[in-house]
Amino acid sequence: MDDLFARARRRIPGGVNSPVRAFGSVGGEPFFTARGEGAHLVTEDGRRLLDYVQSWGASILGHAHPVVVEAVQRAAADGTSFGTPTRREVELAETVADRIPSVEKVRLVSSGTEAAMTAVRLARGATGRAKLLKFAGCYHGHLDALLVAAGSGVATLGLPGSAGVTPGAVADTVVVPFNDRKAVDAALDRHPGEFAALLVEPVAANMGLVPPAPGFLEFLRERATAHGALLVFDEVITGFRIGPAGAQGRFAVAADVSIYGKVLGGGLPLAALGGPAAVMDELAPLGPVYQAGTLSGNPLATAAGLAVLGALTDDHYAELERRATTLTTGLAAALADAGIAAQAPRAFTLAGLFFRPDPVTDYAEAQAADAAAYARFFHGMLDRGVYLAPSAFETMFPSLAHTDDDIARTIECAAEAARDVARA
Ligand SMILES: *Cc1c(COP(=O)(O)O)cnc(C)c1O
Repeated sequence: MDDLFARARRRIPGGVNSPVRAFGSVGGEPFFTARGEGAHLVTEDGRRLLDYVQSWGASILGHAHPVVVEAVQRAAADGTSFGTPTRREVELAETVADRIPSVEKVRLVSSGTEAAMTAVRLARGATGRAKLLKFAGCYHGHLDALLVAAGSGVATLGLPGSAGVTPGAVADTVVVPFNDRKAVDAALDRHPGEFAALLVEPVAANMGLVPPAPGFLEFLRERATAHGALLVFDEVITGFRIGPAGAQGRFAVAADVSIYGKVLGGGLPLAALGGPAAVMDELAPLGPVYQAGTLSGNPLATAAGLAVLGALTDDHYAELERRATTLTTGLAAALADAGIAAQAPRAFTLAGLFFRPDPVTDYAEAQAADAAAYARFFHGMLDRGVYLAPSAFETMFPSLAHTDDDIARTIECAAEAARDVARA
């Protein structure tokens, strides 16, 4: 048989174009996806897998949803990129601003990393300050300044950050534990008037799933304002995924700069940053903060994004929340019945899983979870046709295509896989 992974490793570093795809932390070799159908992936070797990764949360309607496929096909027939303004960019910016009260203006880019990079430059340009405060385990893409104590693939690989990031690039980045108010205050006190931005995933979803403690986001809002720093919410996962107005809608806390991606692009390369006009107008061509992109606001990506946002109703979020609840309570019960100490947290429509006796509130606790047990469970599930994230530090994304039967089958598989883990 055609060994795609062997061919991939010859021509692509590690055989993958994003590290966590390589299965490094769970062992074994990755499968190659031939196509997606709703809640399922069909692999190149003909397996049909129930998929809880859903392109890392991007596919909220499920794979190859007809609304998205038709929108992209129609857009493609009209040309794929022009380098001029197009109607759908305006419509997508209006759609985001209509839904997020703190957002008056929007700049479209092509990836979450690019949006975070631009947000950092914008915050520094707007405030004339250099320092950034970030939280250990929060991931904001692979830009140098924030690639320190990041979650996601960085957590998976157990690297402190990355080679090639100079001490200078992170010299102005201060990292404190998530949910730790004292550490935030200590950092702000140590550097009075120096912080350009406090950046946070309002629900942390790249160190496994770690919700904010009650009042934590309100606290950050208050402290950022008092310090004169911008509060940046990285809603690349939470935006349009945990509710129609993302985390800001759910927690009623307004950010100064909001970052979106994943769901916003409907599975195509698109991301955005947005905020009040007074902040966003610092960007070129109005302001002095330069930012640009050949494929920014790409016609196919805006078509997909508008199709997805147009298809999502408030009822859909209630339904996703119900499915996430069934999934997490079922998983927790299956693991407990097998005598395994585990946590299956839920935040709105997002589901998490930690092999650990106590709830996780920060990165240090997440890292103390049993990653080897997760790896055994992951393979037990994959052998039974259920694909979870290939890392203990990610989130599960039930989509609108996951039926009650799909979730019931997942829990049956989990009960069997858990017994195997317990026996190992
Ligand atoms: C995925 C992600 C990013 C990076 O987005 P890319 O499109 O992969 O560059 C940034 N922040 C968060 C919270 C993410 O989950």
